Amino acid sequence: MPLDFIASTKGKQKLLLGGFTFIKDRRVNTVTYWKCDQCFNIKCRARVHTANDSVVKTLNSHNHAAHAARIDADRIVNNVKETFEDLTQRCQYPDDAQPVVDYFEDTWIGRPIRGSRRRQPLFAHEVWNCYNSVNDNIPKTNNSVEGWHRSFNEMVSCNHPTIWKFINALKLEQSRNDLMIEQFIAGRVAPPPKKKYRDCAQRIIQVVSSYNQQNLLDYLRGIAHNYNF
Ligand SMILES: [Zn+2]
Repeated sequence: MPLDFIASTKGKQKLLLGGFTFIKDRRVNTVTYWKCDQCFNIKCRARVHTANDSVVKTLNSHNHAAHAARIDADRIVNNVKETFEDLTQRCQYPDDAQPVVDYFEDTWIGRPIRGSRRRQPLFAHEVWNCYNSVNDNIPKTNNSVEGWHRSFNEMVSCNHPTIWKFINALKLEQSRNDLMIEQFIAGRVAPPPKKKYRDCAQRIIQVVSSYNQQNLLDYLRGIAHNYNF
């Protein structure tokens, strides 16, 4: 089986093997010596030797569990950068659009620096990437929080209430929540989202489930069809 690699955040190659990640230690002739990437953190002594695209020797056991989920997350983060580069190279965007690309890089991807490295973006990929949220069926937006703000604003019914009016609104909100909690304890079922949102969520799950089977630019287009701005 050919070896599986991933690029580190510093642009270096890492070896993926059995749910573990290895960093390159040294190379002697055709043999490459790898050490577990946890060798510094928790002094894991697992080592692997590879030659001609296959494993020739494994040494020592890991002193920690495999981390398939982290590897998956690392791979997706790498895909984010590669696909962004693919997108910006293919698209003939006008010079006027450069500030938008700069904003996107600074905020979400990181600006390119020496070699194939990029600076840390303002928001780490793990913070904004919703791939796992879709798979785990948890909300991808803060719409519910905005909905709460709207209804609370309506209850207060002015922008700068007096402290007494504000305290009364908080009390009313608390009693409303206490009532709702009791209703859920009594078995009340939360109202389902509107059909158009349910259908949209289902389509996004469908597109995300095909992540590993299609070209990533087609994948992005598939996701984009389901969002209105
Ligand atoms: Zn290890």
